Amino acid sequence: MKLNVLVLPGDGIGEEVTREAVRVLRRVAAMYSHELALSEGLLGGIAIHKTGSPLPEETVRLALAADAALMGAVGLPEFDNAPPEKRPEKGLLGIRQALGVYANLRPVRAYASQLDSSPLKNHLVEGADMIIVRELTGGIYYGTPRGILEDGAETRAVNTMTYSRSEIERVAHVAFRLARARRKKVTSVDKSNVLENSQLWRRVVTEIAGQYPDVALDHILVDNCAMQLILNPRRFDVVLTENLFGDILSDEGAVLAGSIGMLPSASIGDRRPSGAFVGLYEPVHGSAPDIAGQNKANPLGAIGSVAAMLAYSFSLQEEASAVEAAVEAVLRSGNVTADLRPSGAPATTAQVGEAVCAAIG
Ligand code: NAD
Repeated sequence: MKLNVLVLPGDGIGEEVTREAVRVLRRVAAMYSHELALSEGLLGGIAIHKTGSPLPEETVRLALAADAALMGAVGLPEFDNAPPEKRPEKGLLGIRQALGVYANLRPVRAYASQLDSSPLKNHLVEGADMIIVRELTGGIYYGTPRGILEDGAETRAVNTMTYSRSEIERVAHVAFRLARARRKKVTSVDKSNVLENSQLWRRVVTEIAGQYPDVALDHILVDNCAMQLILNPRRFDVVLTENLFGDILSDEGAVLAGSIGMLPSASIGDRRPSGAFVGLYEPVHGSAPDIAGQNKANPLGAIGSVAAMLAYSFSLQEEASAVEAAVEAVLRSGNVTADLRPSGAPATTAQVGEAVCAAIG
């Protein structure tokens, strides 16, 4: 099979972890005799430096031409005070929108060999295995009006949280279908005691649930969800939520997995005529300026994103499982980066990438 993949390393540790993810992708392609056609594009701070835009048109063109895109992370401290249009994160929001990837799937697992990496007690995290489905192209990150308004003596900032019925329906279908292949439970997260937006969310999700009688649905308020994720993470199977809540809750989920560097993600949209999903694959973490350039970053979230890409965009389940099994083998070996608090000397980013390749075969 020909795997036509656009690589978007981005900024900071994005570049370092993506290098290892590509190394793993090359190994899988060689092992299973797939032809790999890689292109590379600019996104984020590096794109601003080279072209003046966080999302150059050429990157959008390459992304639309590829079967899937593999991204690192964006963000550079020097842009922290730049206007929104000139921030690296604008490129990230823009490419998600350009590809129409409206569902962000974030698996969170507490690996048995890594229970001690989590600051939580082992008995709390043990067995936690959920997938957070975050709506990705709507809500407050995209709603208008937005901006900082200077109005005489007073300064006011406005953001708008807005969802349409169809936006909620399509992401809810993704969550219910995923649940069917798992433990058949969807927990929908909202703030319907305060927000009209969430009231519509809850109503529409409840209606969609009627089409999946084999899947149980429950609703939870986002504040309680934040608490239950820590107190009782095993209660969750598929967690369905809107953009902002999902962004925050999935970082909290990282505590269960031991490190944010562990979490992969798949952002998918509708299916192409071929049946494969349009997809953007990226670790959950950011560009981590505090450790960038030091060969310290954990690449397993990026490598797990390769597994998701093989599964969702190429329907290569065996290859995806081979990557996941190799990641588990490396975790068991203890050859891990500093964020997972290994008992011995921490491995470098590159060493972990090499170890995963070796474990693949
Ligand atoms: P971050 O995820 O970059 O880092 C948070 C903490 O986790 C840091 O201490 C960092 O060292 C650590 N960390 C993150 N990834 C790691 C890895 N793979 N291995 C080991 N440790 C890791 O979040 P932040 O510091 O809030 O943001 C930094 C920049 O990244 C900002 O510019 C932000 O806007 C951007 N950001 C981008 C994305 C994205 O590209 N998807 C996501 C979140 C933040």
